[in-house]
Amino acid sequence: MLSSVLLKASRSPLARRAVTAIPVTRKVVDRFVAGENQAAAIAAVRALKAQGLYATLDHLGEDTTDAAQAAAIRDSYVALLGRLSAEGLADVAEVSVKLSALGQALPGGEQLAQDNAHAICEAAAAAGTTVTLDMEDHTTIDSTLRILKVLREDFPWVGTVLQSMLHRTEQDCRDLAYPGSRVRLVKGAYAEPASVAHQDKPEVDAAYERCLEILMAGGGYPMVASHDSRMIRAGRGAASAHGRTASDHEFQMLYGIRQDEQLKAARAGERMRVYIPFGTDWYGYFMRRLAERPANVAFFLRALVGR
Ligand code: FAD
Repeated sequence: MLSSVLLKASRSPLARRAVTAIPVTRKVVDRFVAGENQAAAIAAVRALKAQGLYATLDHLGEDTTDAAQAAAIRDSYVALLGRLSAEGLADVAEVSVKLSALGQALPGGEQLAQDNAHAICEAAAAAGTTVTLDMEDHTTIDSTLRILKVLREDFPWVGTVLQSMLHRTEQDCRDLAYPGSRVRLVKGAYAEPASVAHQDKPEVDAAYERCLEILMAGGGYPMVASHDSRMIRAGRGAASAHGRTASDHEFQMLYGIRQDEQLKAARAGERMRVYIPFGTDWYGYFMRRLAERPANVAFFLRALVGR
């Protein structure tokens, strides 16, 4: 109930104005967001690299409302990739991109987002790293998979995200479990109707395990993105059952969440990648993190009342 209210609020301009106007919000946001600019993001990558962790960087932004804003986000990613290369970090850091930030929802937006993503992929190729397309709500999936297909013709290493909460995802996993494919498997962070998505956690979890099995049995590179110990254990089990080694799959978690587990995995020789969001447009991302965990709401409320 609380979770669905927070997810609705994550898309409400009125709630955005209210939440971002509260002075202490920024302090709470810092727990989940590395900073407002590229320098802060680069510093976070450097700190993770020193601990044996990998990174994927997300320049926060979504639901772009005009082409100029989409171009600005594209240019920021291109500059960021140049910096990662210049600072010797492209071996451990890639970028994650939301196509809605690149104009996907505008009229004619699929082509616009594809062109912008193509420019980002060119910069990633020059830097020697990769790009993963984030997955947003279910209305965007067909468009995102079409763009993925086109991008992969020039950049066969482009990856994407699949969400186990959706009924369609097991089939999408089968379609994308081919050699060279990179799939980040998540549970899904958006409020989705029962017509397209499992509504109960046990069903979402069971679907996650079935999807893991398909991806690990296939020929691609599975990225197990979850903080849930049960899903991580299932990922490890399926990887070893299918004879995978530490270099042909990886685990991923969000910045600021379960850092102890992130380090433990890296120390045990697993590849653990941390998703690092940065930038000023943190509202939607922050609200989805609150929706995932009541304890985060309590943390926010305690900060509000100064305790
Ligand atoms: P849950 O069942 O939500 O949580 C299991 C346990 O993990 C909790 O009990 C708690 O201990 C811990 N935990 C989980 N969330 C939090 C939190 N916010 N704060 C503190 N502890 C927490 N979703 C998309 O829809 N599209 C994407 O493109 C996308 N990309 C992602 C990329 C990465 C690398 C990751 C890790 C997640 C991404 N997500 C994405 C979010 C994902 O869909 C889930 O909403 C999120 O990961 C929470 O699900 P969970 O698997 O961690 O399990």
